[in-house]
Formats: sequence, C-alpha cells, structure tokens
Amino acid sequence: MIRGFNRRWRALAAWPRPRGGTRYSACHFCDTLHEVETVAEGDAARCTRCGAVLYQNRRASLTRAAAFSLAALLAMVVMHSFPFLVMDAASLRRNLTLFGAAWSLSQEGMPELGLAVIVFTVIAPFVLAGGMLYVTMPLIFGRSMPHARMVAKWMYMSEPWNMAEVFLLGVLVSLLKIAKLADVEFGIGFWACGVVMVCMAAAVAGIDREELWDRLEVAET
Ligand SMILES: [Zn+2]
Repeated sequence: MIRGFNRRWRALAAWPRPRGGTRYSACHFCDTLHEVETVAEGDAARCTRCGAVLYQNRRASLTRAAAFSLAALLAMVVMHSFPFLVMDAASLRRNLTLFGAAWSLSQEGMPELGLAVIVFTVIAPFVLAGGMLYVTMPLIFGRSMPHARMVAKWMYMSEPWNMAEVFLLGVLVSLLKIAKLADVEFGIGFWACGVVMVCMAAAVAGIDREELWDRLEVAET
C-alpha cells in the first residue's frame, strides 16, 4: 500500500501534466508562446526569450497551502474569541472585539459599514482559508472532495475581498486618537489578526493557481 502511495505521490509531484494534446503558455512580459512541459518539484519553467518565470512547481505546495490555511482558521477562532483592544478610561473598562465593533457601528446608524466589516474581515477570510483547506488537504492524497472546483472558484473570487489588514490598520489609526483619552492595550485578538494575515498570505502564495486547477483535474479523473 505504501509503495502504491509513493508511486501516486511521485506521479502527482511533477506538474503540469498534459491534458490531452499540446498546451501553451504565454510569457507575461514578452508574449512569447511556449509549449507547456512538465517541471519537477522545486523547479520553474522560464521564458526562452526573456527568462521570466512562466509557471512553477513549488516545493511541497499542497502541504504548505493546507497547513497555512489550517493555521489561519485556528488563528481566526482566537481572533474572534478575544478582544482586539482593551480600553481603560476613568474606571470604565471596555473590550473591543471584531463582532462588537460591527455591532456598535450598526447601532450607531451605520449598518452598511457594520455589514462591510463582517463581510470583509470575517466571511471573505473564512471562505478563502476554509476553501483552501477543503481543496488542498484531500489533494495531498491524490483525492478531491465533492464540488471542489466550485469551492476553488469561490475561494479565488473571495481573495480580493479579504481586508483583515485594512481593519488592522484602522484599529492602529484609531488607537493613536484614543490613546490620548484612555489607557489602551492590544488584546490577544489583535495579535491573532496579524497571524491570520501572515498565514493567509503564505497559504495563497504556497500554490500556483494553475497548478491547483491542474491537480484538481488529475485527481478527478
Ligand atoms: Zn518572456
């Protein structure tokens, strides 16, 4: 069984695999058209004219993408369970959580802004990290989950809407203003948000988008 798994693993490691007939890849810089050839793990295919990278087979791409997306999901749980900021002003102690901030915005006549905070900092990051884990984890074993293609499509569609870092920047700016009026400390949620940002970036950078589609197609056949 282990031998069979190893053979399968080796077969999956080379990428991209030809999908019936010759495939072409155009250079993003000089438009030179190349015939797609399989590259070994850790290697990249380069343009014959200008040397730019056409596509690459990143080392342990699936494992890396799955591991970082799982770490991002765990950090998300911490981020939503603990406060971002803890404020102390004249015997009044207040904890600011992400959901609390969105709720306060909607209570103060800005429901659209509250909804935007939830969509961009809760839903979009969850779709991206959860989708990445759902798609890449079974692919490590050469399998694909039901509707994996649809999930992958949603995952990449949600990518530009991830704005946890914008929220983090907003918290930092408001902190400069509040710091004059109250004692403010960063909560665990703030540091967890930083971890989410780093893990999400690493998960997305871990695997080439074309590679993921290719591997999905191979796993489904
Ligand atoms: Zn080129």
